[in-house]
Amino acid sequence: MPELPEVETQVRDLQAVVGKKILAITSDTHKAWKPNFAASRQLVGKKILSITRRAKYLIFKFSGRVVLVAHFRMTGHFLIAKSATPLERFIRHSFALSSGIFLQFSDIRKFGTLTVCAESSHEKFCKLVDLGIEPLEKNFTLAALKQAFQNKKGMLKALLLNQSIIAGIGNIYADEICFNAKFHPASRVENLTAQDFVNLHKAIQQELKKGVKNRGTTIGEYVDTLGKHGKNQLSLRAYKQHGKPCSVCGGIMQKMKISQRTTSFCAHCQRKK
Ligand SMILES: [Zn+2]
Repeated sequence: MPELPEVETQVRDLQAVVGKKILAITSDTHKAWKPNFAASRQLVGKKILSITRRAKYLIFKFSGRVVLVAHFRMTGHFLIAKSATPLERFIRHSFALSSGIFLQFSDIRKFGTLTVCAESSHEKFCKLVDLGIEPLEKNFTLAALKQAFQNKKGMLKALLLNQSIIAGIGNIYADEICFNAKFHPASRVENLTAQDFVNLHKAIQQELKKGVKNRGTTIGEYVDTLGKHGKNQLSLRAYKQHGKPCSVCGGIMQKMKISQRTTSFCAHCQRKK
């Protein structure tokens, strides 16, 4: 599933269509539209004023105070095309824009969602209000991380995956963050010391920034709006590395399940707290 760095890469690329007007929308997967496909008509004739990200959501603001909130789920991604011809086999939705540009939404698994709502209510309607702190924003300070984890109990990786605590981290970056900070993913967060929080804070920012710099991790379907793969999969040190030698100590990487997700780690380098 695309995580914060992959969605951020798409949002940065999509700035190319800000200012364009939607001329028509076609869709062969009506169930993706919330509250229903008929709501998509509200976007036709409207101009895209801004495209931003919150956690793994893309937020398109339009003239007329209408908002489209997109979520990629498993395999969704946008492509920017110069004609109506589908750039990939699984284009589910196509937006004809002014200047002859087409915004195509590819989604093999069909779990992606497109929610149309009023600007005034979109944060509540799409549950954006329930999301935790944004880890690449300025307000994600060491104090803010400690505050977010205050009175929380449980395994470190499970808390990193909890979108209501820190927003945007999924299975890939959670494993990479635990490896970077040298914490066993099953460490208990209630046992973290002040120095541990310093290391964790640094690791979260380093791994997510690295992911953005590498234009995302392509494992499965993820590509940028030109259809190009990211590069972060070439330098992963933990995610899906079980059975391979650890890049630091050479020991064989282990795996376990945490929150029903396969978790890879080095039992030698990553200490349980
Ligand atoms: Zn190791």
